[in-house]
Amino acid sequence: MNTENNMNKFDYIVEQFADLQILRYKVEGFESLTLEQKKLVYYLSEAALEGRDILFDQNGILNLKIRRTLEAVYLNYDGDKTSRDFLAMEVYLKRVWFSSGIHHHYSTDKFVPDFSEEFLERAIMSVGTSFLPLEENQTVEDLCKEIFPVIFDASVMPKRVNQADGEDLVKTSASNYYCGVTQKEAEDFYSSMKSDDNHTPVMYGMNSRLVKEDGVIKEIVWKEGGEYGTAIKKILFWLDKAMAVAENETQKEVIRLLMEFYRTGDLKAFDEYSIQWIKDTDSRVDFVNGFIESYGDPLGMKASWESIVNFKDMEATHRTEVISENAQWFEDHSPVSPDFKKTEVKGVSAKVITAAILAGDLYPASAIGINLPNSNWIRSVHGSKSVTIGNLTDAYNKAAKGNGFRDEFVYSDYEKELMDKYADTTGDLHTDLHECLGHGSGKLLPGVDPDALKAYGSTIEEARADLFGLYYMPDVKLVELGLTPDAEAYKAEYYSYMMNGLMTQLVRIEPGCCIEESHMRNRQLIAAWALHNGAEDNVVEMVMRDNKTYVVVNDYEKLRVLFGRLLAEIQRIKSEGDYEAARALVEKYAVKVDPKLHAEVLDRYRALKLAPYKGFLNPVYTAVRDAEGNITDITIDYSEGYAEQMLRYSREYSNL
Ligand code: ZN
Repeated sequence: MNTENNMNKFDYIVEQFADLQILRYKVEGFESLTLEQKKLVYYLSEAALEGRDILFDQNGILNLKIRRTLEAVYLNYDGDKTSRDFLAMEVYLKRVWFSSGIHHHYSTDKFVPDFSEEFLERAIMSVGTSFLPLEENQTVEDLCKEIFPVIFDASVMPKRVNQADGEDLVKTSASNYYCGVTQKEAEDFYSSMKSDDNHTPVMYGMNSRLVKEDGVIKEIVWKEGGEYGTAIKKILFWLDKAMAVAENETQKEVIRLLMEFYRTGDLKAFDEYSIQWIKDTDSRVDFVNGFIESYGDPLGMKASWESIVNFKDMEATHRTEVISENAQWFEDHSPVSPDFKKTEVKGVSAKVITAAILAGDLYPASAIGINLPNSNWIRSVHGSKSVTIGNLTDAYNKAAKGNGFRDEFVYSDYEKELMDKYADTTGDLHTDLHECLGHGSGKLLPGVDPDALKAYGSTIEEARADLFGLYYMPDVKLVELGLTPDAEAYKAEYYSYMMNGLMTQLVRIEPGCCIEESHMRNRQLIAAWALHNGAEDNVVEMVMRDNKTYVVVNDYEKLRVLFGRLLAEIQRIKSEGDYEAARALVEKYAVKVDPKLHAEVLDRYRALKLAPYKGFLNPVYTAVRDAEGNITDITIDYSEGYAEQMLRYSREYSNL
């Protein structure tokens, strides 16, 4: 009964500053791994942390120097550490840690320091030179001259990734992927390479910096013995240890091929590694470590360094398997006309993983799903691996619990209790039903153009998948399958769905704008349609209390009937390609926003002072050794703080 209370003892929220909130995630199930699996996680985690400095350097040529200077001041400043300037510098440094550089991780705009140049100069002078990242023969004055314009002058390196059409995107982006070359030179360099190969092209330029030296354009490759070689050497050290405790031959080969890639920098070796990685589906532990995503390069070629180590969440993966094994039953029993049902339907089962360590471009801000590799030809020939990271979503949910959001927007204690008790489970379950069954259900009538609904197609498709899930949430079948704990649980999802669709999702819309994104349109479409069509029976209503608007669900059973009716109609529209009906529904219910309600919701949300961006601290893994030095266990600890973790990483994994 009190499991919820016990769970809350874990502190999900660490701290908040600027527009950021730092959270912890829990590595549920780590203790139940075998010793060999724990060692594998440990070695791969070390390999992940050793690459940290690579991303700082990729994000900007002076990032490491600035980070180290500020860390030296932060630790050794002999003045007043409670002064306004010092505290503002502390926030700035925390943001630099978070973004692996001086640009915002999401907008890529340069941070504006809230402390003075004079303060920083005085502070740096007060720190002993041995603490500062001085190059040979460099004075402290030189160091200040080098980094101050980059920190304080808004016109220097204003954006990490510039995408403004018409400008030289390479020259105007502060990321460190090109040096001395123009956009045209870079594009010409790579287009001449690409013409050589066609069916199985490697990802050209992915693991190198393009530079112009003495008029010659060439790649400086990131590999052992090359650029970033000192960090890569340490990564290789840990990968080698990991290979020795790999779970099976397939995984051993994955690690061996990755090491070969790091040693040679050969992109063909990277493709071989990627293909082998797709094949490794039986191992419990899995990982990514390398140059992966190219969002940081305005030309979309150079890949930022990242790593994640994880293991399969057996229980959650079992849940998606149970759903997809029963796909035919759900299809047969849906309220849709038999003409539009599939006679044979296949569910999709998704793998859910537990993150054990995050690094590089996945730390502290992380994705909650992964779909790799990125190579197009490998994806089409060999497929890909797609996973959702369950424990990060869970941490987001748990952290949001105490933030005042529900207290502000949920109508009464009755709904709050429902949500506290069930919403995490039912939210995940609705997502699973949407993904594993909803999108795959139903069929088009013969001759109907799949694109018949044109611009309304994706809203209708999302609504179809959401409604399929909503319709089944209360079904006794879900209790029988062990997917919901009892017959009341669905009410938590019904209430939060209606509240979100009718009101709270508006916090993501700017004043004066309407709803454009298709998932958001779909949610308002369903919620507003149910409000309107259930009005006669007062199924759902919007009530005012103390000048605040609330959503109230008066009849949950009738709400299910309404969802079933709308599902049947939406499926008909899709199956028949009825464009006019799609347009009428979307335009009537999904797009327009009541400006008065919108303003109210925005005001109430702003008053909660919630941080829009979140990131995660890692747990600390420690190897326990016997007298001979053999590892007998790996322990996990969550007590490290934010600055503490960042400073430790800077101390222990300072490889460049
Ligand atoms: Zn969808």
